[in-house]
Amino acid sequence: MKVISPGFEVLDDYFTSGRILEQIERCGRVCYKSEDKITAESAPPFIRGIIKRGHESVIEMAQVVMRIRADSPTVFQEFFELIPRFCQATRVGENEFIISGNPRSFRDLARRAPGLELVGAVARLLSESCPIVFEDLIDNPDLARGSGVEVRLLDAAEVDALPVDQLVRHRTLLLHITVNRAVTHELVRHRIASYLQESQRYCRYGEAKFGGEVVFIKPCFFKEDSPEYSIWKQAMEETERHYLKLLETSSPQAARTVLPNSCKTEIMVNATLEEWFHILRLRASKAADPSMREIMLQILPEMLRRFPQVFEPLRELME
Ligand SMILES: Cc1cc2nc3c(=O)[nH]c(=O)nc-3n(C[C@H](O)[C@H](O)[C@H](O)COP(=O)(O)OP(=O)(O)OC[C@H]3O[C@@H](n4cnc5c(N)ncnc54)[C@H](O)[C@@H]3O)c2cc1C
Repeated sequence: MKVISPGFEVLDDYFTSGRILEQIERCGRVCYKSEDKITAESAPPFIRGIIKRGHESVIEMAQVVMRIRADSPTVFQEFFELIPRFCQATRVGENEFIISGNPRSFRDLARRAPGLELVGAVARLLSESCPIVFEDLIDNPDLARGSGVEVRLLDAAEVDALPVDQLVRHRTLLLHITVNRAVTHELVRHRIASYLQESQRYCRYGEAKFGGEVVFIKPCFFKEDSPEYSIWKQAMEETERHYLKLLETSSPQAARTVLPNSCKTEIMVNATLEEWFHILRLRASKAADPSMREIMLQILPEMLRRFPQVFEPLRELME
C-alpha cells in the first residue's frame, strides 16, 4: 500500500488557449485513469464514445462565454422563458447579453428548443469551436438559422478583463484535486459545479499500472509516530489484503465494497469563481471537516494569487 498527502493542480491552460476538446478528454480520462492514452488525435473518438454511452457530464468540463446581440428583444425573452438552469447571463446593453455555460448546457438547449433563434445561433457557432460535441445536432432540420442574432465567443483575456461582478459569474476554474473519498463525498454536495471522479468501478488497483496496490490519503488527525496512526495503518493494510484477494475472483466494482473513506481518489471540479468563493467560505472555515479544510487551505492561496479581486475577503480564513 502507498500513503500520500492530499494535493491539487489548477488546469487553466486549456481555457486560456481555447483547447476545449482536449480539456474535456483530459477530465474524462480521470474516471478511467487512462490519461496515458491521450494523443494528438484521441479527443474526438473519446468524446464520441462518451456521448454514445450517455456519460454527458464529461462535456460539462469546459466553459464557453459569449457576447450575444439580437435585433429584437423577443429573441432573449423566448430564451429566458425556457429558464435555462445551467447558463449564466448578464445584460450588457440594449438587446445585448453575456451568456456563458458549459458545452453540455448548450447541447441540451439545442435538443430541447432547436427552433429558438438564439439557441440555433449558439449551436451553430459552437459546432465550429467544439464540433464533436454538436455533430449529431447540427443537421437537425428544426435547428433555427440564428437569424437576427450575432454571437461572438469571448477569449480568455476578454473574460478575465470583465468587471468583477461579471467575472465571478462567467469565469470558471478547473481543479484536479487528490483527496480521500470522504472529502469528495462532501465536495460533490456543492451543486452549482461540475464533477468527474476516478471510478473504483473501472480502476483495478491490483493491476501493474496502479502499482498493484491501493493508495490511501494520510489522515490529518494522527501524528505519524502515534498509536492511533499505527491502528489506522494496520486497518488499511488489512483492507488492501482483502481487496486484492477479492480481485482474484471478482470485478473491481465488487471488490471495492471493502475500500474505506481513506482511499485516495482524484476529482475534477469545474466551477465559476462565485461558486468557488462559496465553497471556500464554507470549507476553509474552522467549522469544516479538518480533512476538507486541509485541502481548501492549500487551494485558497492559489485562488488569491490568481484572482485577488475576488478572493481577498477570504484571506482571514488562513489565519
Ligand atoms: C460545516 C458543515 C457541516 C455540514 N454538515 C452536514 C451534515 O451533517 N449533513 C449533510 O447532509 N450535509 C452537511 N453539510 C453539507 C451542507 O448541508 C451543504 O449540502 C453543502 O455545504 C453545500 O452547500 P450549499 O447548500 O450552501 O450550496 P451549493 O450546493 O454549493 O450551492 C450554492 C448556492 O446555490 C443555491 N442553491 C443550490 N441548489 C439549490 C436548491 N436546490 N435550492 C435552492 N437553492 C439552491 C444556494 O443559494 C446555495 O448556497 C455540511 C456543510 C458544512 C460546511
